[in-house]
Amino acid sequence: MTEINPKNIGSFSRRRFLEMIASLSLVSASGVWAGQQFDLPDLVIADSDMPKIKVAMAAKKAALRHQCRPDMARFSGKHMAFKVISEELGAPSASEIMVNQIMKNVRAGKIGKGVSAKDPSEARMFLALNTAATTWNMIVGPYGENHENMGFLGWLPQGLPPELTANPVSLKDKRDTSKKIKAIAAYAGSDKTGITEIDRRWVYSSTCKNGEDPGPAISKPILFKKTDQPKETEKALILPDSVRYAVVMLFVQPRALHQIDPATLANNASVNQGYSQMGIASVSLAQAIRSLGYVAIPCMNDTAMSVPLSIDAGLGELGRLGFLITPEFGPHVRIAKVLTNMPMATDKPIEFGVTEYCRDCGICARECPSGAISPDKEMTFEPPPGADPCGNPGALKWYVDGKKCLRWWLESGGGCSRCVNVCPYTRATMGDVLPPGQIRPEDFWDLDHKAYGRRDITY
Ligand code: SF4
Ligand code: SF4
Repeated sequence: MTEINPKNIGSFSRRRFLEMIASLSLVSASGVWAGQQFDLPDLVIADSDMPKIKVAMAAKKAALRHQCRPDMARFSGKHMAFKVISEELGAPSASEIMVNQIMKNVRAGKIGKGVSAKDPSEARMFLALNTAATTWNMIVGPYGENHENMGFLGWLPQGLPPELTANPVSLKDKRDTSKKIKAIAAYAGSDKTGITEIDRRWVYSSTCKNGEDPGPAISKPILFKKTDQPKETEKALILPDSVRYAVVMLFVQPRALHQIDPATLANNASVNQGYSQMGIASVSLAQAIRSLGYVAIPCMNDTAMSVPLSIDAGLGELGRLGFLITPEFGPHVRIAKVLTNMPMATDKPIEFGVTEYCRDCGICARECPSGAISPDKEMTFEPPPGADPCGNPGALKWYVDGKKCLRWWLESGGGCSRCVNVCPYTRATMGDVLPPGQIRPEDFWDLDHKAYGRRDITY
């Protein structure tokens, strides 16, 4: 296992700095990128009746709610977007292409494709904002997906006395434990926390040790076995059978950063800040649980699928756009989790009509610049053929073609969150910080930012 060496903190390379500035996140995709040109449609948010949000408890966990076929396979980390596209492209990898596009934009005084700043120095200012947002990621090392048991995401306690870690405290009242763990998660930075038993279908079948580089995938299976502590061998990553619970945490993303234009450096700043928060909270909560004598696995996008776990943990429903939709913040959230063997009371899934609303809405599909989101009225069990091998067939849902999505990211040089930005659940829950028609980069700086911290920013 890799441990944090304090001597290395602060000594990152130029390539690493630039890689961190690009948002390496969340989409599962495949395909050959050959510099396709996307037409960016004008940002016209269609009028729609805002969804009425009335939350009810549901009996159905994610697998039943989305009617998973019994033969649905666990997903492999080697099928994630950045890996598959990087492998197909060869050098430069997808992340390097994206970084090059960012720098090209900034040199031209732009903060995204077709989005000009007032002048080149303002473009640099947005790059500085992005740098602030991603600094924690730069300092701690690997983050995002395919980084199981690496760096600060290591699976064993870090710097805690064995008197604590080898001595599980007796916890007889599961409800009381859940309440206190949620309180600790909130202090660690979570905006909302849910707890579920782990459905192992959502745990990745394997990780990819070279998840962002070109070249054939180097993969290791993720297994559950009878063992006291999680461990990594030459051949496998092994989780104790006793690890049955996931504490799932939500982190609200700053609204204005998405609203300027959801495919810019401002969007990247929001995503990167989300990753920073995910990292801080997941490792903090994991250390807290370890100090109580239990196993705790801090996870960002790695180890297990965040969206179905968060559905099972009662935090929201799956939207057509492929993200979790929450009753409090729509899809404007990022997700981290801690897997543990500490016994806790679990939450029940919730329903508030998302599937039914999405069936008639389809705004995200219409507004997506890459055509990645299914516009079909009905859900299917199969991803579109072009999404193979990243589509993970077997669940009844609207599939997102991550290959198309990532191609657009590479071209925009600003990632993309347009689907999140235009979703009526975002607008119903978070409103618009910048008035429609005034979403120019220069308007952002006149907002009442207070401190640039997640707790103080105007969401
Ligand atoms: S709008 Fe389309 S391209 Fe943009 S993030 Fe959503 S799915 Fe990807
Ligand atoms: S924008 Fe997409 S995800 Fe949001 S409500 Fe409409 S169809 Fe559902």
